[in-house]
Amino acid sequence: MIKKIDHIGIAVNNLEESLSFYEEALGLKVENIEEVSEQKVKVGFLDIGGVHLELLESTSPDGPVAKFIEKRGEGIHHIAILVDDIEKSIAVMKEKQVKLIDEIPRKGAGGSKMAFVHPKSTHGILLELYEK
Ligand code: ZN
Repeated sequence: MIKKIDHIGIAVNNLEESLSFYEEALGLKVENIEEVSEQKVKVGFLDIGGVHLELLESTSPDGPVAKFIEKRGEGIHHIAILVDDIEKSIAVMKEKQVKLIDEIPRKGAGGSKMAFVHPKSTHGILLELYEK
């Protein structure tokens, strides 16, 4: 079951600078900053009325976010939808022949579980299934 949009992931060159922009220009509050080593990123979450911006800075030049920025520059990287049972959502999508990047959930920020759905199936959006 899909609950809502949880966050929008934005690839940035410098997390501290980007967070300062959103704090100063928009008055948003930083909720937490952490490193997700499995995905080679440092992330910062900002709250906007229960939906979040997840700013992602690569911690390695060969990480997926570094490669994204190299190809396309900074910008929207993915949209994450909150699901109550990620294994079940993955199973349903597989049944419907949806192309998945992760068929087994990975560890995300804050002890969450996440899996990416391929942009080829979603008409161009990197979609993240996200279970808190
Ligand atoms: Zn995300």
